[in-house]
Amino acid sequence: MFAEAIKRIERQYEIRRNQADAAFLSEKKAIYESTPRLSEIDKEITKLGIQTAKLSIRPSSVENQKEIENLQSKIISLKNVKEDILKELNVNLVPKYSCHKCNDTGYVINDGLSEMCSCMRQELLNEAYNKSNMHSLKTETFANLDLNLFSDIPNPTKYKSDISPRENVKKILNISEDFIKNFDNPKQKNLLFTGSTGIGKTYISSCIANEIIKSGYNVLYQTSPLLLDNIFNYKYSNNKFNASSSNDLYNSLFNVNLLIIDDLGTENLTAAKFSEIFTILNARLITPNTKTIISTNFSLEELSKMYDSRILSRLIGHFNICRFFGEDIRMKQ
Ligand SMILES: [Zn+2]
Repeated sequence: MFAEAIKRIERQYEIRRNQADAAFLSEKKAIYESTPRLSEIDKEITKLGIQTAKLSIRPSSVENQKEIENLQSKIISLKNVKEDILKELNVNLVPKYSCHKCNDTGYVINDGLSEMCSCMRQELLNEAYNKSNMHSLKTETFANLDLNLFSDIPNPTKYKSDISPRENVKKILNISEDFIKNFDNPKQKNLLFTGSTGIGKTYISSCIANEIIKSGYNVLYQTSPLLLDNIFNYKYSNNKFNASSSNDLYNSLFNVNLLIIDDLGTENLTAAKFSEIFTILNARLITPNTKTIISTNFSLEELSKMYDSRILSRLIGHFNICRFFGEDIRMKQ
């Protein structure tokens, strides 16, 4: 999939890996210079290693075997001394790769076969589709969410709820945490975020995306107008040049671990467009290891006016509904 993008990302990985290796070598050099005992130990280990190798190619005898074991135990104790020195210096002398699964190669071996690491698959999705959509994943984290932006005064008339916007967001955060924790549990429901714009729906979706990516899953983020454009492109475009890339996207909509559909309803939603989205949502309900988050400015009542309420209510049974309310927090930030 995404042949050209893969080549480009592989080059980025190579650069990243080389940088980590170079940083490791220079860190090692500095530590070895300040602690000469370390290079002495390395030399001794190499020497003992060579002696062991020489002995092992000789015809085996009891004496020979004893000598080999003796050398091996010397090597082990030297390695322990080295480890103690490094512990004392408080350094972990290994290259600092960003992905511990693939060591920044982009590939892992699974059942004897080389396959793309989840980190690289995510880079591809980001590059191809998420970049212009997804908000900054680095800053949008639960830790950076300021609950003080949400009022702690309940307003039942205005918000049609007995609890304050702050209490409500706390509840939604708990639901989000459960969603992340139970992501691979087939019984875990999907999430539907409703409420007007600017009260945290997209922010919290991004926080969840962040955590899900960290757990090694892949996330595809689409605003609903863009999603529909992409679907119609795939279905009706005769442009052969774009065919394979729209194919890749169309397949990803069905099998990516987490699909986020943001802003459902901002476009002019016709029944035909709705049914395209429902096809994907329904298919995802029976695809293992997939979950969906939908955010919409519409209330459930408004949505059921727009679409067949029986189909809608059946679908909604598979979603936890989180209603956001409060003042626009973008103004306060
Ligand atoms: Zn990786």
